[in-house]
Amino acid sequence: MTRTTREWQAADAAHFLHPFTDFQALAAKGSRIITRGEGIHIWDSEGQQILDAMSGLWCVNVGYGQQALVDAATEQMRTLPFYNSFFQTAHPAAIALAETLAELAPPGFQHVFYGSSGSESNDTVVRMVRRYWDIQGQPQRQILIGRHNGYHGSTMAGASLGGMAAMHAQGGLPIPGIAHIGQPHWHEHHRTPGTPEERAAFGLEAAGWLEAKIQELGPENVAAFIGEPVQGAGGVIIPPATYWPEIQRICDRHGILLVSDEVICGFGRTGQWFGCQTFGAKPDLITFAKGVTSGYVPLGGVLVGERVARALIERGGEFEHGYTYSGHPVACAVALANLRLIRERDLVRQVREDTGPYLAQAYAALADHPLVGHAETCGLMGALWLVRDKATLQPFGPEVGIGMACRAHCFGNGLIMRAVGDRMIIAPPLIITRAQIDELAARIRRCLDLTLEQAQRSGWL
Ligand code: PMP
Repeated sequence: MTRTTREWQAADAAHFLHPFTDFQALAAKGSRIITRGEGIHIWDSEGQQILDAMSGLWCVNVGYGQQALVDAATEQMRTLPFYNSFFQTAHPAAIALAETLAELAPPGFQHVFYGSSGSESNDTVVRMVRRYWDIQGQPQRQILIGRHNGYHGSTMAGASLGGMAAMHAQGGLPIPGIAHIGQPHWHEHHRTPGTPEERAAFGLEAAGWLEAKIQELGPENVAAFIGEPVQGAGGVIIPPATYWPEIQRICDRHGILLVSDEVICGFGRTGQWFGCQTFGAKPDLITFAKGVTSGYVPLGGVLVGERVARALIERGGEFEHGYTYSGHPVACAVALANLRLIRERDLVRQVREDTGPYLAQAYAALADHPLVGHAETCGLMGALWLVRDKATLQPFGPEVGIGMACRAHCFGNGLIMRAVGDRMIIAPPLIITRAQIDELAARIRRCLDLTLEQAQRSGWL
């Protein structure tokens, strides 16, 4: 269908309600229409090439245009486009993927429960965790603890587990039985860069908030703790190395289940197959989505560790939960092709040993920019914190909207970076090369320069 950009925008504004969007404001401005992707680039309807440093929405890990994934989908659609697995049936794609996931997962994970998204996976967690404690004869263990500024999806349970204040303000959230603690975000509390020792101590302090919350609620009432190894949507908040092992100790001490939301961190993003492996945690449940299919088709799920799996299988009877598209054959076939590609190209090791460290170097260099208060990376995720005064780390006020200003310059200059408040974040495709990281860093610097000029002109400094 060939239409002009204006025609697309008019139809979009007339009919398409976008997620997390001020509908009226967008209709007035007009969407950017993305028409094509190849490798790490996308193109808009005006023909402009854009470096997609966000991998779509943290998901296109193998990049755009991978024929192997197209072929897998085509073949599966031809053979068996859909069948359910509710009534004592299964099909080869879902079985083979479950087997592969068990192989790739950390030790102790032999089972998977499928959904179609990260949100559905985290909804499954709420039901599965509570069911687990029922089976254990402790039905009062209902409460799941998440974190402020965590993100676990946008369904009722997903948004409740997450700690996004703006989301809780709409629709009567959080649902009952969900509590939150603070996030391990150094700069939320400190206006100094922090020495390694100070940051390590802060990691223990932030984990201690979990202990305090458990004591407040009564350990006998707490079912699970859920967190992202690195908070993605919250702004690429990378915890100190001391944080996750301490969280693990606290959960173990109270027998509480630990859930690692790997919807972003899973499948190589942090330089290991799963983020919990990078950060030294041994969760009981792992939720995944996005990178499992590189976003080519929707798929998500929960990897179920031995402790929970044994209870559900041996003593649980029927688990009254599931989705029409649990283990959708086309999605599973695409996931298998995607995981095969990640393995064949050794992308996880490449991120850990080559491109991840190379991006870290590029970010260390960007840290000298006058607008950048702090630059950090973990594998192929990165954050730049934009500040008014580099020496004192004085932030811009929210009225300035420095992140959105910077994002607009990126948008206008062939680069997708995301703004979360005053943090500019990236998560480029795992196939990105060193030369492309050089190009990415050069474009980021140019956009920072343009943002600085605008800040000077506008009297924001
Ligand atoms: N968990 C995390 C950590 C996420 O980043 C996201 C989505 N960004 C979700 C869950 C929700 O996934 P979905 O949008 O596929 O429902």
